Amino acid sequence: MTSQLTDSDRAALRTRYRTERDKRLRLDGNTQYLEATGRYANLLDDPYTPLVPRAPLHTDVQVLVVGAGFAGLVVGARLKQAGITDVRLIDKAGDVGGVWYWNRYPGAMCDTAAMVYLPLLEETGTVPSAKYVPAPEIQAHARRIADTFDLRRDALLSTGVESIAWDESLSRYIVHTDRGDVLRAKYVCTGTGPLHLPKLPGIPGIHSFAGHAFHTSRWDYAYTGGDPTGALMTDLADKRVGIIGTGATAVQCIPHLSRSAGEFFVFQRTPSSIDVRNNHEIDPQWFANLETGWQRKWMTNFTVLQTLGFAEEDLVKDGWTDISIRIRDRAVELVKAGATLGPETLLKAYEDSDDEKMNEVRARVDAIIGDEHTAAALKPWYRQLCKRPCFHDEYLQSFNNANTQLVDTDGKGVERIDERGVWVAGVHYPLDCLVIASGFEVGTSYTRRSGFDIAGRDGVALSEYWANGMRSLHGIHVRGFPNLFVIGFTQGANQIANVPQNYVENGLAIADVIAHSEAVGVRQVEPTQVAENDWLTFITSNQRGLRGNPDCTPGYYNNEGQPISQSDMFNGSGHPGGPIAFFEFLDAWRQTGEFVGLQFSA
Ligand code: NDP
Repeated sequence: MTSQLTDSDRAALRTRYRTERDKRLRLDGNTQYLEATGRYANLLDDPYTPLVPRAPLHTDVQVLVVGAGFAGLVVGARLKQAGITDVRLIDKAGDVGGVWYWNRYPGAMCDTAAMVYLPLLEETGTVPSAKYVPAPEIQAHARRIADTFDLRRDALLSTGVESIAWDESLSRYIVHTDRGDVLRAKYVCTGTGPLHLPKLPGIPGIHSFAGHAFHTSRWDYAYTGGDPTGALMTDLADKRVGIIGTGATAVQCIPHLSRSAGEFFVFQRTPSSIDVRNNHEIDPQWFANLETGWQRKWMTNFTVLQTLGFAEEDLVKDGWTDISIRIRDRAVELVKAGATLGPETLLKAYEDSDDEKMNEVRARVDAIIGDEHTAAALKPWYRQLCKRPCFHDEYLQSFNNANTQLVDTDGKGVERIDERGVWVAGVHYPLDCLVIASGFEVGTSYTRRSGFDIAGRDGVALSEYWANGMRSLHGIHVRGFPNLFVIGFTQGANQIANVPQNYVENGLAIADVIAHSEAVGVRQVEPTQVAENDWLTFITSNQRGLRGNPDCTPGYYNNEGQPISQSDMFNGSGHPGGPIAFFEFLDAWRQTGEFVGLQFSA
């Protein structure tokens, strides 16, 4: 507890944090990771849906939405609500759902509460089964959105976009796909998601492994047995299985592997912080009594609290709001004791609360883990928000199972991999199966992650226009790329604890702009150069968040510990007033119907 920590305890913590960070800092930062090539090239394939041959399509489309995850689905729904009927979703996956289509590993679920995470619950009449719901239920919700708003009938699934190029004479984008389609789209919305391109750990010899190997985002149930609902993976009972990575994904699938595998080895570079989850079922009776408009209220309440604001009650009440409420209340205490409200007081409130929280997280490890050495290795020594916080009530317990061994690499990572297994600190661990839980590309360029480039007016490529960082108005409109709408969170609200809220709110603005353009018969809409420049100046005037905090242990939250370039800064910026300020601003902006900063041409 805060009050029990002396100044010297706090100083000792800082020293320990720096020591642990220094072990992990590496000059190659993001470039340590490998693309899925060679032996792993099939990682990018779709193992879930057979490719059904079809004739190439040559047609006009009013709105083409690239990506059929929550970003594309929500914007598609908003467009339908605004009266736009010709909306076509396109996705390389065989069905809608985005990350929830691809990630079917056992135990997959969302640890942001379903009441705020699942978009359009009211519009689709959906009651989540529990506070935190499993991946199959989330995927089913994605399908429900598609069906409710009739987005499936025209969707081009199992179809990858290859290129998008603006044709000034037609005022349309010409879109080529890997199925030979040529689409002429008046408007293009891109919802390609922040975390979908799997990356591999840059471990020497990774391509030489001769056993079975797969990335968590392409779980091979044909090999393991079991299924996405978490059934026992009976085919692993006589196998030696290893997993590389202990991030949010691994934390969810490790309990299942521990239950199923004959022998199980967890190769850890940095332990995650594992806070309590406390999941519980949702009472349909209670749910039925919620008033119309409840979901926006809940989303707002979550974000207000999660960004240090005040609200009468904490509706979601979870690990995300817990840490921010502690920081906020500590700041209030400090101000009452005479401190001036400003960055220094906020930093002190943050550090005090974080010390308290992380001591609790570490104490929980001791309370659960039987073996002293294993407990010591599972304790995270960094501030909670340096890495993606995790919440789980079965993960730590797995290490008490006799078949499960934690192989801690003391921050160094796996030494090398050979044909038969994994080496750590000179010890060889022979394996039949290697599960790779090394996450997804984050710091790489937008066009690389989406898998296609977009040529705007005069053939200027988006990759070129954004070579020194993203430039946009509101994170949505890009100068020189008429009728293009980016669906995301950067340069807008930057709400990352509940990403779909960005789509729900931005979707309203996107739909209004398109509906207005159609109503008044414009051919092109894009931001003025001045508006785009001013927005960039505005959002970079005050950097929020911990991105780039030099004291953090490296990870994708802080550019893998490398300095923040101008490009990283642009790509990571949001409204200086925080998510709620952005959402309120955008709502007012669209409701005036003037769309200040946009230029419409007939
Ligand atoms: P992460 O990037 O979070 O984790 C990758 C893991 O691989 C880390 O533990 C990393 O260690 C480890 N690693 C990388 N290279 C090596 C190496 N050479 N040797 C040993 N270990 C290595 O990926 P995840 O797939 O776990 O999660 C990605 C994101 O997906 C999450 O942050 C979250 O945003 C999202 N997600 C959300 C969920 C939800 O409930 N909403 C559930 C699951 C994922 P190190 O930490 O040292 O870098």
